Amino acid sequence: MDINKKKTDQADKPVRHIIALSGGKDSSALAVYMRGKIKNVEYVFCDTGEELKETYEFIRKLQDYLCTDITWLKSERDFRYYVDLYNGVLPDARTRWCTRMLKLKPYEDFIGDDPVISYVGIRADEPHRKGYISTKPNITTVFPFVEDNIRRDDVMRILINSGLGLPQYYAWRSRSGCYMCFFQQKREWAGLLENHPDLFEKAKSYEKFDPATGERYTWIHGESLDELAHPDRITQIKLEYEKRKSREANAFKGNLKLKDIWDGDLDDSEELACTICHL
Ligand code: SF4
Repeated sequence: MDINKKKTDQADKPVRHIIALSGGKDSSALAVYMRGKIKNVEYVFCDTGEELKETYEFIRKLQDYLCTDITWLKSERDFRYYVDLYNGVLPDARTRWCTRMLKLKPYEDFIGDDPVISYVGIRADEPHRKGYISTKPNITTVFPFVEDNIRRDDVMRILINSGLGLPQYYAWRSRSGCYMCFFQQKREWAGLLENHPDLFEKAKSYEKFDPATGERYTWIHGESLDELAHPDRITQIKLEYEKRKSREANAFKGNLKLKDIWDGDLDDSEELACTICHL
């Protein structure tokens, strides 16, 4: 990809080149892949304050690898402030105020009115995904992995060859993002309970039941974390996950190209998930 061909409308101002890191595998691999290809690249991490410690560890590891500072962006207000502001209504895939207030706003404030090329790690095997495309006219979004046909296996190779490997949470979770993200699958909630019981409790503390209206504010539609945490329910969730994996493995036999697309533990919410959080 010839970066020099990318232009913005504000030719008189120097163009800033920015890679936003989520602490996930694709944005991290993009930072490694683009190293040396762009001059004066800036790396940023939008910290919601509700990230896993494994994410922070991986961002620091990446910073050491890149031998440069990663700018840590944070909203002036924390997640609890916004939950209270929205009267206890938790964010969901439709409203996703958390992404807007805790990720996008700090990112856009950091950019200001400068002409920016924003590099996004959507892969060539993710045609269904949409990147964070800013409506700000001074931001041009580019997708180097799509342009260079970099797929999931390539991303894995980039991370392994760099010595970074994968963030540790991939052992029980399929994507980056806040520990209480509503885009999680139920088996990931079960993973949170097993790996970070304290954070599971913290996520539970955000759920509310209004006895006056009967309204339940839960992370998962129709099920509270208290209900999910019941040992029988956890066993059931794990069994269902194993069955699904086995169904998928059989379905994809003989169609390796399709398997390449779906092998990332994709579920329905993946298409909706915010790329600034989950790449
Ligand atoms: S990771 Fe999930 S909970 Fe966190 S800001 Fe993004 S969408 Fe919201």
